[in-house]
Amino acid sequence: MQPEISVIVPFYNEEESIHRMHSAIVDAVEPLGVPFEMVFVNDGSRDRTLEIATNIARADERVMVVNFRRNYGQTPAMAAGIEQANGRVLVTMDGDLQNDPRDIEQFLAKIDEGFDIVVGWRHNRQDKLVSRKIPSKIANWIIGKVTGVPIKDNGCSLKAYRAELIKAIPLYSEMHRFIPAVASIAGPRIAEIKVRHHARQFGPSRSMACPGSTRCCSTSW
Ligand code: UDP
Ligand code: MG
Repeated sequence: MQPEISVIVPFYNEEESIHRMHSAIVDAVEPLGVPFEMVFVNDGSRDRTLEIATNIARADERVMVVNFRRNYGQTPAMAAGIEQANGRVLVTMDGDLQNDPRDIEQFLAKIDEGFDIVVGWRHNRQDKLVSRKIPSKIANWIIGKVTGVPIKDNGCSLKAYRAELIKAIPLYSEMHRFIPAVASIAGPRIAEIKVRHHARQFGPSRSMACPGSTRCCSTSW
């Protein structure tokens, strides 16, 4: 059966979170009574993320694993998941338990209302003030002015899209943060809703520090 919803999650060295993430998504989405799949993208993790993801997929046929042999970054990982997803509505979220799958229900309700893109706003963001929240406020303000699409929190990964719209947008570099602005050329209806946000439970941000990598990782906000 074709899934109605695809939940797409990138993982980079998230061996502590991935089981919890799977359970949290299932607990939140199963009660909604619509067919769904989970697309777990392993972004070249050097820990047991791939092994655990593969075991989860063996036990739950709704899980698809997409594997990168090296670390490409959050946007390419998300893009690969989007490309492979089969749902009519695609939901993207982080795999470190900072986003909360219990919010997915309100994203789907907005899509049902007729919106094409629904963007999360971490109004109570649990990240550092000086290194993350202040740069984020400035960046969001500038993006809003430049693009004419005033979104409070472009950096929030928790978003939902109609599949045909997001699949038509090529994603590269750190572009996952700008999808609503890029998509706005096609004139979609965009909604922004408040979401829960939790502090990172396990280790440091995977986007800010990538030891041994030549990729620039300081663009996370
Ligand atoms: N991530 C990824 N590849 C990377 C860096 C991060 O797939 O090169 C994943 C990471 O595992 C997490 C999500 O992207 O699921 C967000 O990353 P992170 O929590 O480090 O970003 P932050 O919340 O600090 O912006
Ligand atoms: Mg995080």
